[in-house]
Amino acid sequence: QAEALMRAEQLAAVGRISAQIVHEVRNPLSSIGLNVELLGDAVERATFPAPDEANEVKDLLSAVTREVDRLADVTEHYLRMARPQRPDLDPRDVTAVLDGVLDFSREELMRAGVEVVREFSPTTPPVLADEGQLRQVFLNLLRNSREAMPYGGQLTIATRPLEQDVEVTVRDTGQGMTEEVRRHLFEPFFTTKEGGTGLGLAVSQQILQAHGGSLSCQSIPGQGTAFVLRLPRA
Ligand code: ADP
Ligand code: MG
Repeated sequence: QAEALMRAEQLAAVGRISAQIVHEVRNPLSSIGLNVELLGDAVERATFPAPDEANEVKDLLSAVTREVDRLADVTEHYLRMARPQRPDLDPRDVTAVLDGVLDFSREELMRAGVEVVREFSPTTPPVLADEGQLRQVFLNLLRNSREAMPYGGQLTIATRPLEQDVEVTVRDTGQGMTEEVRRHLFEPFFTTKEGGTGLGLAVSQQILQAHGGSLSCQSIPGQGTAFVLRLPRA
């Protein structure tokens, strides 16, 4: 519990820092974008000694515009990821949310050679959840599972009604994790991946706690991993 609190505080700090970075970056970024646009207009009006030169300049300018747009997206995304938001709770059918996320990820999972097995209980009661945040949690878990199965495998999603909660299990046949990784995986910025953010599970756990639910993990190295999620029934 104390550890979870500490993580929540760390995440809140991440949120504040990202907000500041986004703020510092966004203004200069939009003036870069504007100036590039003005340069584009100037190129339209200018005459160039060689006819190809105008096109070359236009290509360079549109490359700059593309990168500026991408940077703006990245900063927004980071901000949204890290800033803890109070969930907007409504009764939701968690199997419908899962179906939506699985449909959305189908192409990606298929290409990765991941076979999806749905074991939804036909009597899964509605949960109290923020649908957008729930989707974010499932997308994080699905992505981690896919990344843990670089040679393909099986992804099983199961739901089970409990007395107070609904339990969702996301199980993969991936590489699993060592005891050492198990101890740290919910910490913000803990990652074993090149280019990983280490925020997926920290954010997911924080979201579930804000729902009055929980997220835990079981894993066997070389065999696979299961994340068990609990959400209060509506
Ligand atoms: P990231 O994916 O950016 O590394 P996460 O918070 O999503 O950050 O995950 C933290 C770490 O937990 C991962 O780097 C990985 O080592 C481990 N992990 C998470 N999910 C799985 C999984 N399904 N199988 C094996 N390891 C996992
Ligand atoms: Mg991740």
